[in-house]
Amino acid sequence: MPEDGGSVHGSYDVAVIGSGYTGLSAAHRLTSSGMSVLVIDAQDLGFGASTRNGGMVSGTLKLSHKELCDAYDRDTANALFQEAQDSVLFLEQSISEKRIECDYQRMGMYFAAYAPKHYEALAREAEELADLGVETRMVPRAEQHGELASDIYYGGRTAVMAGGLHPAKYHAGLVAACRAAGVEFRSRCRVRRTERQGAAYVLSTDRGSVRAGQVIIATNAYTDPAMPWFRRRVIPIGSYIIATEQMDPARLRALIPAVRMIQDTKRNLFYYRLSPDGTRMIFGGRTSFRPISTDESAARLHAAMSTVFPSLVEARVEYSWTGNVAFTFQKLPHVGQYEGIHFALGCCGQGVALMSYFGDQIGRRILGQGGDTAFARTRFTTMPGYSGHPWFLPAVGEFYRLLDWLERPKT
Ligand SMILES: Cc1cc2nc3c(=O)[nH]c(=O)nc-3n(C[C@H](O)[C@H](O)[C@H](O)COP(=O)(O)OP(=O)(O)OC[C@H]3O[C@@H](n4cnc5c(N)ncnc54)[C@H](O)[C@@H]3O)c2cc1C
Repeated sequence: MPEDGGSVHGSYDVAVIGSGYTGLSAAHRLTSSGMSVLVIDAQDLGFGASTRNGGMVSGTLKLSHKELCDAYDRDTANALFQEAQDSVLFLEQSISEKRIECDYQRMGMYFAAYAPKHYEALAREAEELADLGVETRMVPRAEQHGELASDIYYGGRTAVMAGGLHPAKYHAGLVAACRAAGVEFRSRCRVRRTERQGAAYVLSTDRGSVRAGQVIIATNAYTDPAMPWFRRRVIPIGSYIIATEQMDPARLRALIPAVRMIQDTKRNLFYYRLSPDGTRMIFGGRTSFRPISTDESAARLHAAMSTVFPSLVEARVEYSWTGNVAFTFQKLPHVGQYEGIHFALGCCGQGVALMSYFGDQIGRRILGQGGDTAFARTRFTTMPGYSGHPWFLPAVGEFYRLLDWLERPKT
């Protein structure tokens, strides 16, 4: 008998498609205010990215503040940036109010410069961020070992409004909080069609149909052909992670002394951190833009990790996994309504705090309690011929690899 099995029938105030951070945050907000909510997932609860991510909580976006200003007017750029920062505060408050034990700590993040000119770009952005009241610190290469015991980078920048958590524990805590609030779940039950009928919607699923006053699409990189308009606007990109065998925590801590979350500044970037208990190195990246096995990604990530930390060349990989990150053509998430259906999609790999926050905002909007967001103003377009299968990714990946190679530090 599947978890949360049983037929799908009856009528709810709100039906949520997708049981990750977005769907759960929305469901919790709505149920806590007295609405009846059904969360449906095509797979086990949390099958999507919300149990497989790197657990890095960052108050930043894929686009830099300058890129935001180039793409939008300055007020919008500032509002987008500020909301990304605020999403971290939201996450912290939510974890605390729901008493979720997920090893959360605000230890900050370190952006490691891949090349000298990347360090200069980080420094320029630090000045803009200071004008916005955002606390950062430039770390020259000579002082880098206080943050990161690696010699391949050219210094970096710290960010204070960032932290780390255990993603699956955070997800489990949200599910528990939702259940306690009265949210109903159906897992392993795919929504095949959503149709408007009068003022309500009818969702046809593998196990029956349900009526709902409002619908929320919270499927992110796992958006399937049942939602063609949304699928055409989301680009699923595989991201891969390894975890090493358990090691002496003191040895690992010597590699990342400030115990921050680390990201480098390449286009095909690496992101890494210590496991919450400090006994493993967790190392991730987009090692391939075409699907590869987790054995192959493990070998590639191990090689990459050994370049960053030569002392880990002998460390055995104990776990290797992958999941899909949702990009948009604009490299920014979008929150909105289409034909009356609410959605938040396209976190571009930064959804732990953001998607949790967006789910809550959608809940507030349905309740008539605000829920306004600058991410309703981001563009959310597709390109001709794209239906959700990103055939162009291998070429884009190769192009990015070439650009990274061209920008490689010349010794
Ligand atoms: C490897 C990896 C590493 C990452 N690292 C980080 C990180 O360190 N920091 C960070 O901030 N972000 C990170 N992310 C991104 C982050 O995990 C996501 O932004 C976030 O989890 C998205 O949550 P969500 O609720 O929107 O979607 P998901 O958690 O992906 O959930 C979507 C759900 O929708 C369901 N679904 C799809 N179609 C249907 C249907 N027709 N019927 C019913 N259900 C359906 C799926 O089964 C799935 O469970 C990472 C992602 C990956 C893959």
